[in-house]
Amino acid sequence: MAQMAVTKYYNGFPPKYREKQGYAVYKMFKNGELPKPSQCIGCQNSTDNGATIMAHNENYHTPLNYVEICYHCHMAVHYRFKDPLTWRKWCDLTANDWQPPKGRDYKVFLRVWVWVRTTETVLPKKLTWLHTLPDIEPNLYEPEPVLDVLG
Ligand SMILES: [Zn+2]
Repeated sequence: MAQMAVTKYYNGFPPKYREKQGYAVYKMFKNGELPKPSQCIGCQNSTDNGATIMAHNENYHTPLNYVEICYHCHMAVHYRFKDPLTWRKWCDLTANDWQPPKGRDYKVFLRVWVWVRTTETVLPKKLTWLHTLPDIEPNLYEPEPVLDVLG
């Protein structure tokens, strides 16, 4: 498991802040203070089956409030604002026990995303955590107040 360089905003959080907060959690996985993520909250894939499971944050002010998610569902979470219809299909497919491939390969993810876009929609058997995510990106970031040291 490696910490990825963060280059984009998410839910209003700037890349540098995301990286800082994410790194704190990554270190805790590394030194054993927290158990490493092991099962996807979306498709239920697990490290036992060889899937790559990571931590995802919606709100970087509370970095310990992460969810465990596989690489492919994680990529889908971050693609959802660009293509909400494909995202909804992803949610419904995983609710019907479909699982994306294991491993961590961006090119494979892109092929799977296109397959999901063109496949027929299925009705969800159940709702998963993925269904709770907003389709429009919220702005959850409030910068820490700057102290007025000159006052
Ligand atoms: Zn998954």
